[in-house]
Amino acid sequence: MTCGVVFAESGYRTSIFAEESGPRITSAAAGAIWFPYDAEPANAVIAWSLETFDILRELSDMPGSGVSMLELRSFARTGELEIPPWASSLGARRLAPALLPVCFTSGYTLLVPLTDTTIYLDYLAARFRRAGGEIQVGVHLVRLDEVNRDCSLLINCTGVGARTLVPDPEVEPHRGQVAIVPRIPQTHAVVCDDPPLTYAIPRTNDCVFGGTNELSADPDPDPATTSGSASACVLFGVSGFVCAPINCATAVVSFITTATAAPALPSPGVVLTPSWPSRQRSVKARKSVAEEAILLSS
Ligand SMILES: Cc1cc2nc3c(=O)[nH]c(=O)nc-3n(C[C@H](O)[C@H](O)[C@H](O)COP(=O)(O)OP(=O)(O)OC[C@H]3O[C@@H](n4cnc5c(N)ncnc54)[C@H](O)[C@@H]3O)c2cc1C
Repeated sequence: MTCGVVFAESGYRTSIFAEESGPRITSAAAGAIWFPYDAEPANAVIAWSLETFDILRELSDMPGSGVSMLELRSFARTGELEIPPWASSLGARRLAPALLPVCFTSGYTLLVPLTDTTIYLDYLAARFRRAGGEIQVGVHLVRLDEVNRDCSLLINCTGVGARTLVPDPEVEPHRGQVAIVPRIPQTHAVVCDDPPLTYAIPRTNDCVFGGTNELSADPDPDPATTSGSASACVLFGVSGFVCAPINCATAVVSFITTATAAPALPSPGVVLTPSWPSRQRSVKARKSVAEEAILLSS
């Protein structure tokens, strides 16, 4: 969708074809806190991430975008958590021992963009349409050359779908499961990447508890994982997590972002189980070769 906005706002006749949109795609399930994470090649990803950081920071000043700046506290379960150079350049600071929840030995804090996808995806779609873009949903492409249009440029943004569409076996489906719980009185996000991966991200109207990151394309939610994530979040020692009024184990709703059938997104308590492509290819748009862009997906 971002790609589409860039082209449409630059004056190109732009169309997006996508199998699914809205709350059923992977992007709708993301936390989605800014952080260069589990994507390769690392050097390129960090450079792209820093560019994205600046654009998202600008968007955070725009009412209705769903983007805000949020403190992120990152923790380690053992030893001293190293502050990566890119984080230092953005002002990351080591957390004082008094700010470390039990079970964690070190951590650092950093102000980062958070995109609340329940707002941001609609914001992008509205911007795209305002710029004259067209979106066609329900179009499943088996091969790229099926796009039978007289276009100058075709951009493949199919996420994990690129594995079979290109086909590109280097694209791996990573399964992530999160629990969406009611809003909590918490002003910062917390994450611990030491196993088990654990994070809690407060958003405008709810909070995302996570999580998992496994090499798997299985879209079915696992109630045990949900309970585990919620319990693990309690370890962060935030009172709101402890009393979040939800029984995650019984609130499991199948929500699939990369497969086909899925129910509408219900109220808090839903479990999201998308696939998380860890190695994504990026295509940089070059204006000189494009008069009309046809984009696949968001
Ligand atoms: C649980 C979880 C938490 C995450 N948290 C974060 C986070 O905190 N921060 C972060 O930066 N990232 C996070 N991610 C990763 C992030 O969600 C993804 O990297 C991102 O959403 C990928 O976006 P995309 O537009 O490339 O793909 P998608 O959102 O998957 O969109 C792909 C689109 O292509 C369409 N498509 C696919 N195949 C075809 C086909 N053959 N024909 C037609 N259309 C097709 C789909 O229908 C869809 O519309 C998380 C992911 C998960 C699963």
